[in-house]
Amino acid sequence: MNEIVLKGVSISKGIAIGSPFFLTEKKDNPPHLELALGEIEKEIERYHLALKKSKVDLEHLQSRFVNDGATVVVEILGAQLEILHDPIITHLVEERIKVSHKNTEAVFQEVINEYNKVFEKIDDDDFEERISDIKDVSRRILRHLRPLKKETAACEKNSIVIAPDLIPSDALEAHFSEIKGFVAEKGGYTSHVGIIARAKGIPYVAKVNIDALMNLDIKNMIVDGISGEIIVNPSSETLKKYSILQEKYHKYFLEISSHVHLAAKTIDGEDVKIFSNIESLDDVPQVLQNKADGIGLYRSEYIVLTEKQFPSEERQFEIYKKILEKLEGRPAIVRLFDLGSDKMHFFLSEEVDIDHEMNPSLGCRGIRFLIKNNGIFEKQLRALLKASIYGNLRILIPMVSDISEFLLVKDKIKKTREDLEKEGKKVAKNIPLGCMIEVPSCAIMSHNFAKEADFFSIGSNDLTQYVIAADRSNPDTNYLYDFSHPSLFKLIEMTIKSAKKYKKEVIICGEMAADSKFTELLIGMGIRSFSISASNIATIKYAVRKTDAKDAIAMAKEALKINNVEDLKNFILKDQTVF
Ligand code: PEP
Ligand code: MG
Repeated sequence: MNEIVLKGVSISKGIAIGSPFFLTEKKDNPPHLELALGEIEKEIERYHLALKKSKVDLEHLQSRFVNDGATVVVEILGAQLEILHDPIITHLVEERIKVSHKNTEAVFQEVINEYNKVFEKIDDDDFEERISDIKDVSRRILRHLRPLKKETAACEKNSIVIAPDLIPSDALEAHFSEIKGFVAEKGGYTSHVGIIARAKGIPYVAKVNIDALMNLDIKNMIVDGISGEIIVNPSSETLKKYSILQEKYHKYFLEISSHVHLAAKTIDGEDVKIFSNIESLDDVPQVLQNKADGIGLYRSEYIVLTEKQFPSEERQFEIYKKILEKLEGRPAIVRLFDLGSDKMHFFLSEEVDIDHEMNPSLGCRGIRFLIKNNGIFEKQLRALLKASIYGNLRILIPMVSDISEFLLVKDKIKKTREDLEKEGKKVAKNIPLGCMIEVPSCAIMSHNFAKEADFFSIGSNDLTQYVIAADRSNPDTNYLYDFSHPSLFKLIEMTIKSAKKYKKEVIICGEMAADSKFTELLIGMGIRSFSISASNIATIKYAVRKTDAKDAIAMAKEALKINNVEDLKNFILKDQTVF
């Protein structure tokens, strides 16, 4: 049998070796029965019993994950319990049983299908998760109405579960002794199945062509959750290589997990701050759980993107206030709305002044958009300044390309403060104002910005795209978009040098900060603050704790002499095992 490699996307890291278990959607056709009048009450009771049993299941699972400290999983189960208690569904099912005299399974399926159809029309990731939760809950209820053999329970030891689309309970109920890995066609990093798989340490690769897999005669397979590949019928040589890698990764995973509660200090005692990036208020518990030093980047535009409208001053004030309060004095850096025409196609044109653009990433985005849409800008500043008294607020300006933009914001904040104080409102005395370094002109002129800004935040995602002129989301330019490009480090070096002169803090956010292969180099260049998503904190903290700052300085000196991507990549990876 020939070894076959299929490419997917890694959702949960790790290596799984096992045999395939295809979890195809069973076409379970429950009976459609006509009930006699005297049977109606009993039928409704049967429905309530199934609800009760499902509730016990979910609560039992919840308490198990509470004990494990997996709060995100507990929240997902909480959302499922809410669906279970949804009075609209329960009432509708009861009424239909009474009126149509049909049995519970038939009515329940009817109602759930209608509910699904409503959500399916909405093109939104959150709603996709909601549909997946509804499917999951209804499958659980139907299982209690007509006990079937559980699909995943049929798995043998060392199974790799393969499905077009996994739902949360597939991951929740997976016993590690049996299920070693997941492979699916659909699914993204932030999906509930993804979150649960990561919490349980089960490797998971999505975006795999399942049809192709189904047509193969598979004896055994490997899920490489590190590279995002599936290896079907591996040769003995490949199996040996992966067994070693699996062992290595397992040790690494145990080790990094044990470091999350320790201080982010280098071997030679240099303190490093690990902040967290968030997209919503819901991300804050994970930030606290992972012991971050604060929020280094709140992408506030997600309020607009998820609510699909511009939030009022009051709505924003409530969100900012809650975040600041939850952080109990730790800094929270709120980035002003980073919006552009590419992210706002769903808005009515009269709501905002924005045109269709040929090059949205070079267009009216970030601070340029706010300057053009003064009403939106003022509301956000007023909300932020009013919330500032509830914690340690810092404000960050996105997409700055010229000092005039920075000075304009500074002046606007000053005027907003004066207006609010005239209205008798309190504003914190000191609200540090930072500048995103994500446009090359800003890095090159950082000596000028460092006089004005209170801190810098290097946005490595955009800085890479702009310095190489390679669209960060275009697959055709992917081969050029590389954090190891030496030009990027030249700009970072300039930025750090300027900040140092004026004693200003430099934070690095963007995905480069979350990639542990760059940690030593960045520390060697002088970075002492990282801002990354909460799920990466353990990895980066571990990388910091393995770094000797003095060695890192010497390493960075050598790295900065290198002039091409491949050489720099090899140099960085020398002596490193990076997962
Ligand atoms: C960046 O550009 O690196 C950054 C952190 O901002 P965003 O990814 O939101 O553009
Ligand atoms: Mg950016």
